Amino acid sequence: MIEKKRYFVFSNDRLLVPVDADLKLGVKVLESLSIDVFSSYAEQATSVKIEGSIEHHLVDTQKEELSHESVRSVSLREAVMTMPRQDFQHLAQAWQYTVFLRTHQFCGRCGSRMDRVSWEMAMHCHTCQHRSYPRISPCIIVAIRKQNQIILAQGPRQKEAGFFSILAGFVESGETLEEAVHREVFEEVGISIKNIEYFNSQPWPFPHSLMVGFIAEYESGDIVVDGKEILEAHWFDIDKLPIVPPKFSIAGRLIEETQKRMLRDKVQ
Ligand SMILES: [Zn+2]
Repeated sequence: MIEKKRYFVFSNDRLLVPVDADLKLGVKVLESLSIDVFSSYAEQATSVKIEGSIEHHLVDTQKEELSHESVRSVSLREAVMTMPRQDFQHLAQAWQYTVFLRTHQFCGRCGSRMDRVSWEMAMHCHTCQHRSYPRISPCIIVAIRKQNQIILAQGPRQKEAGFFSILAGFVESGETLEEAVHREVFEEVGISIKNIEYFNSQPWPFPHSLMVGFIAEYESGDIVVDGKEILEAHWFDIDKLPIVPPKFSIAGRLIEETQKRMLRDKVQ
């Protein structure tokens, strides 16, 4: 039985939360749509996931910016950086559904208006029977070690934010995950790697990636960067790392795991 409802309310690409929400403490999403500004949206609330007695919904106000003294808006990045892991997954799912619904109003095959399917997350065209599902784009991310060093790189976005990270890139059509790892690493930094091992994965809702994490070892080659996608890349001693992504992210966890393995190998 549903005892509690929670609402991810999106306005443009921001999330509305209670005005007193401290994202780090877990009081972060709305539990009611009872305030007047939401009244016209209450009926459109879409169930995203039921977990035990809690039902999570998404509400999309699209471009309408709602303002009310009891709510404030936060950027999605701010929300995902601070939310507890469980909430992050719900938010990622709700936002990916929102992007899907916004971008599939019309059929990609014949151009007719599409309708929501009531029993699964899909949009259906009654003119040509084409059906669309939320897109998930696999993306590999890999931590590469060479003895007690790890390769970290900086693209324009990381440079602006002042940190270094491990290598990542989208999987291309017809490619295996392992092939994507080899190709991306070679394209981005010009080295060959070996002993690729799966680590774990994380959905990343900007806008619909699934990050698949690997750990690998250096094999051969010198670092060469293209100066556009990757501006800088270096081997860093594991105990002298620059600023790296936080541990809640898969990049942060892969770096931490690499660190652990190096320590373990040193001790033995
Ligand atoms: Zn159609």
